[in-house]
Amino acid sequence: MKVQDMTKLTDHESLYQWARQLPKIELHRHLEGSLRLHTLTELAREHGIALPSYDLEQLRPYVQITDDPPDFHHFLSKFRLLRRMYTSKEAVQRVVREAIFDAAQDNVRYLELRFNPVALSRAQNFPMNDVVEWVEEAASLAQEESGTRTCLILQIGRDEPLEIASEIVEIGIAHHGPLIRGLDLAGDEVNYPPARFEAPFQRGLAAGLHVTVHAGEACGAQSILDAITYLGAERIGHGIRAVENSNVISLLHERKIALEVCPTSNIQTGVVQNLSLHPLADLFNLRVRVTLNTDDPSISDIVLSDEYVTAIREIGLTQAQIYRTLRYAVDAAFIPEEERETLRQNFRRWLAPYPGAVAVFDQP
Ligand SMILES: [Zn+2]
Repeated sequence: MKVQDMTKLTDHESLYQWARQLPKIELHRHLEGSLRLHTLTELAREHGIALPSYDLEQLRPYVQITDDPPDFHHFLSKFRLLRRMYTSKEAVQRVVREAIFDAAQDNVRYLELRFNPVALSRAQNFPMNDVVEWVEEAASLAQEESGTRTCLILQIGRDEPLEIASEIVEIGIAHHGPLIRGLDLAGDEVNYPPARFEAPFQRGLAAGLHVTVHAGEACGAQSILDAITYLGAERIGHGIRAVENSNVISLLHERKIALEVCPTSNIQTGVVQNLSLHPLADLFNLRVRVTLNTDDPSISDIVLSDEYVTAIREIGLTQAQIYRTLRYAVDAAFIPEEERETLRQNFRRWLAPYPGAVAVFDQP
């Protein structure tokens, strides 16, 4: 089967169909931001959690960005309600399973899902180690059933005490295996710089865990430099403000560091004012390894395919550039080298029906 050349796809529906059918990779998706609205109301009912409303439409503004003014703290505030749902092992595992199946439904073939063990354990004071085991167990089953290879990243909140960060790193090291692959630092970039977490992140790296760090989003290019210098970041969550500093761009080249770009999230947090001003295309033209991601599909009410369409329609990326982002994502995935080669081969095979895609994917 040959797929239509997208240069001929003029209407929105055809472009969307192309994006839906394309095999995709997601490196930056938060479990807590992936909770289905319907599941939220069911869990709340089952566990007697009070919600502002049990009607999906009335509940929407409390957990999704609707007509909110773009603002970082406002965006983060949506998690408050979402994080109250983790009231039992079953609830945690249901959310994990649905997040993986939702990605699979959108033809995401390789997924990295990150979660904050503190957030998942807080509702009932579960031991963090138990919560991590539950997530791992559910992810293992769901990846097998859905066919979407799934890796997990343990996320540390910037506002957590150092002891908690160290505990999460130790749990990560103890569970490091085919599923648990890395660490992430997330949360309020402005008030909590990364240097404080140097010791636990270096310990994780030394034990073989991979590291990605949210930076260059709310803060400027210096925060990317700090994430690389102190925490050994191998990828940067967002990182779009790298465009402000040519030294940082050079460092990204030198270390082959990929950016996990999430366009819709950037608009909703107010980091970028509108999509026509988004630096994704500029970063691509500077030969930075950019990848496309959702961040929080539920909060933003999107799937990854929407971000591919947005990148083309609103930001001006070409079809070929999208294929190239897939190669950057394969190269930056937190998997062993042997598995990476298999994933590359798989993508060559999956992209074969798309005119010109394999050549772009294989460009040096
Ligand atoms: Zn994020």
